[in-house]
Amino acid sequence: LAALYGAFTRGEPSPLPPLAIQYADYAAWQRARLAGEEHARQVEYWRARLAGAPVLLDLPTDRPRPAMQGTGAASHRFRIPRPLHERLSALARAQGGTPFMAVAAAWAALLHRWSGEDDLVVGTPVAGRTHPQTEPLIGFFVQTLALRMDLSGDPSFHALLGRVRRTTVEAYAHQEVPFDQLVDELKVERSLSHPPVFQAMITLQNASGAGPELPGLRAETVGAEVGAGEGYLALYMEEDERGLDAVLRYPTDLWDAATMERVAGHLLTLLGAAAADPDTRLSRLPLLSDDERARLVAEAAGPPLEVPALPAHRLFEAQAARTPDAVAVVSGETVLSYAELNARANRLARRLRALGVGPERRVGVCLHRSPELVAALLAVVKAGGAYVPLDPADPPGRLAYLRQDAGVSLVVSSSDLAHAAGGDAPVLWVDREPLDGESPEDLDGEADLDGLMYVIYTSGSTGRPKGAMNAHRGVVNRLHWMRREYGIGADDVFLQKTPFSFDVSVQEFFLPLVVGARLVVARPEGHRDPGYLREVMQAQAVTWVHFVPSMLAAFLEQPGLDRLTALRRVFSSGEALPRELAERCLARLPATVGLHNLYGPTEAAIDVSFWPCRSDDPARPVPIGRAVANTRLHVLDDALQPVPPAVTGELYIGGVQVGRGYLRRPGLTAERFVPDPFSATRGARLYRTGDRARLRPDGAIECAGRVDHQVKLRGLRIEPGEIETALLAHPALREAVVVVRADGLGDARLVAYVAAAEGVAAPSVGELRAHLGATLPDYMVPGAFVTLDRLPLTASGKVDRRALPAPERAPERDYVPPTTPAQKTIAGFWAEVLGVERVGVEDNFFEIGGHSLLVARLFVRIREAFPREMVLVDLFRHTTVAAQAAFVTERPDEAPAVTVSQQRGTDRAGLRRASVGTHRGRR
Ligand code: AMP
Ligand code: MG
Repeated sequence: LAALYGAFTRGEPSPLPPLAIQYADYAAWQRARLAGEEHARQVEYWRARLAGAPVLLDLPTDRPRPAMQGTGAASHRFRIPRPLHERLSALARAQGGTPFMAVAAAWAALLHRWSGEDDLVVGTPVAGRTHPQTEPLIGFFVQTLALRMDLSGDPSFHALLGRVRRTTVEAYAHQEVPFDQLVDELKVERSLSHPPVFQAMITLQNASGAGPELPGLRAETVGAEVGAGEGYLALYMEEDERGLDAVLRYPTDLWDAATMERVAGHLLTLLGAAAADPDTRLSRLPLLSDDERARLVAEAAGPPLEVPALPAHRLFEAQAARTPDAVAVVSGETVLSYAELNARANRLARRLRALGVGPERRVGVCLHRSPELVAALLAVVKAGGAYVPLDPADPPGRLAYLRQDAGVSLVVSSSDLAHAAGGDAPVLWVDREPLDGESPEDLDGEADLDGLMYVIYTSGSTGRPKGAMNAHRGVVNRLHWMRREYGIGADDVFLQKTPFSFDVSVQEFFLPLVVGARLVVARPEGHRDPGYLREVMQAQAVTWVHFVPSMLAAFLEQPGLDRLTALRRVFSSGEALPRELAERCLARLPATVGLHNLYGPTEAAIDVSFWPCRSDDPARPVPIGRAVANTRLHVLDDALQPVPPAVTGELYIGGVQVGRGYLRRPGLTAERFVPDPFSATRGARLYRTGDRARLRPDGAIECAGRVDHQVKLRGLRIEPGEIETALLAHPALREAVVVVRADGLGDARLVAYVAAAEGVAAPSVGELRAHLGATLPDYMVPGAFVTLDRLPLTASGKVDRRALPAPERAPERDYVPPTTPAQKTIAGFWAEVLGVERVGVEDNFFEIGGHSLLVARLFVRIREAFPREMVLVDLFRHTTVAAQAAFVTERPDEAPAVTVSQQRGTDRAGLRRASVGTHRGRR
């Protein structure tokens, strides 16, 4: 160039045209064009084309994207072999396309599979020499085009190629607007963390052959590191005799070399499959090599572990024989030894047998949390049957449904619960049944590991709860794994506080009893009261406790946690454990306490994965960890193929803990329990969880939301569909949808949106609440109701959940300001706890955003401020400011505080309930 330019400036004749002048001419010509109409038309084209395009292609990265992107970049070089390149080019040509379009389609397909996005933008440089006059010019005419790729509807590679061809041809026809100018004109959102418009690029250089022939000069092309386009994930390809010489260029602050090597491999696998069968849908194109796939399948498995081949009650019996005098159960002042508990359970089991209980028979158990409950659960399984928890706190309508759906042959209850237990099935009243005549010896008979142990109901999306069946084998595996993993033994003290209608309770009841540890039974309703729990834990030297994350948060607010010196392990499960909460927990509890995040659905024996939390974890969500023993956790795509690490798929569970399915729901069972392609065992099934998940580089699994509408609210599993169905059973309603939202109340809650039937007045909120309360447990009754003329719909006719308005605050009540000092104080506490400004004395705590955990916070404050003796449940009975103020200012001598359990007058069996805790002396 220097030589040419020198000759030109010296006025010497040159064999070539006067280049510099022509280049300047070109610049002037381009400037003129940019001011013209054609330019405006092209800008308009791009404005329309890029409208609503995603700002960021959110590919899974090895490290979180920094707020300010660095400039470091590296390359991974690989080769697309010639036969493959030729086959792809032929495919493209057959559709009137170019080889570039084939590789661009493959690149888009890879980015789509990797990110899960249907709509993505890929940049590509073009030569920019659209006018023949510019051909001999030397200069940088290169222009970048944004190709917005549509991958929706899972097209075949063939179909995608057609889309890419149209996109590319159109882009070529509008290539004159310089990219930088376009970014300015379109006012594209700028961010320091990533380049604008697109973050992925592709280039294909056609065979360049030899360098130009210049007299007196020798010219050749030299391979150079591609320097341009830092900040992008770019695929550069150059044609040569051996196919395509490809370079994957990537920002080093986002990815490691190993990842890029894998991604290049995935691209090759995908290209090969697409070339072999272009009619395959994108979702079915493989990414993994056979080796990679085999490794992922192998790594899905938890460690093998030998597990005793005995059902849980047999393990308990063996323990009772070893340590008959050791303490098995502590409940308030009641203490039962292993021998006593076993004898009691055996007597009841004999009576159950006499009443026909045996293998596969379902027995409803409707009891408050108590030693009788522990004995009853043991008795049902000892008799060979399976228990079905009937929580006495649930409305009678729901209990009737559960009894009937489960086909219980018998209900075990106590006479104070006649309102809940009675009905269709015969009832054995444990408080009235004289069992002294029965033998206290262990029962004989086959102990079948594959026998049904319990049926626990979970919310059903189609409207009715469904019973998940679990056999002894899976549960014993789970118990034995936990015992081994955490070295649990006879010194341990377990707190049983989870309502027995949730499967977490299964380990709380049975794990201590099979290892010879001590089971401390929290008082009924005690599980809602973090202050009480802390006090029992301290008084009973509890070593093992489970919380759902939201309750853990409330628990950590309690004073005196440092006095829990016996505590060793806190288990969190039931919903995602926020990282910040895990850190707070580790910081607040004594250093000897370990925090473990467990995961698992009711359909697969309690929990199937575990993760020990550490305070120095990398800055990512707390993972659910790895599979427990004899269990597999697969992250799969819809074709049940493993997805690559970091890519989001759906979590499937395999192995011994997979339950039997749903009681009397073969259709639903077949849908969720699918044949296990990774198992050699005939008939093995995988449980399809509905949880989105991905593998971290270290092999731990991270959860990433749901594939469906299922929600977890304070650890409770809820299908909005079940609440919607219950709402629609109201004759005045035509439409209903239920969502979870927070709306600045600080805490998420359920909100129901309803539309009344034609010509009918919408039912009042009170009426709807009562209607739902008759069949749903209290945690499924929405906190707010919004009546609309009709529900907003999306273009496709589904309810547009994002267009639902925020609920207005308790519109059905007039504002009555607090007047007495007690009312003012309490209203102030409400405002604090609920995060609201104005509280009226007639407002109902649960209708303006309150829920069971917020009650606990309110309780701590009120109890501090007033001398009245009270327990948490009092605040469930007095739900307005006025009622609470009246309650705390009542003379206690005239109206003593009562707990629900005392009020219901149980304890006929002569047991005293826990009095530890919140009863405080009057000041
Ligand atoms: P359940 O049947 O009540 O145990 O609910 C199981 C569901 O709760 C799972 O499918 C997840 O959606 C959610 N879940 C349970 N434990 C966790 C956890 N540790 N992290 C994230 N989600 C969880
Ligand atoms: Mg669970």
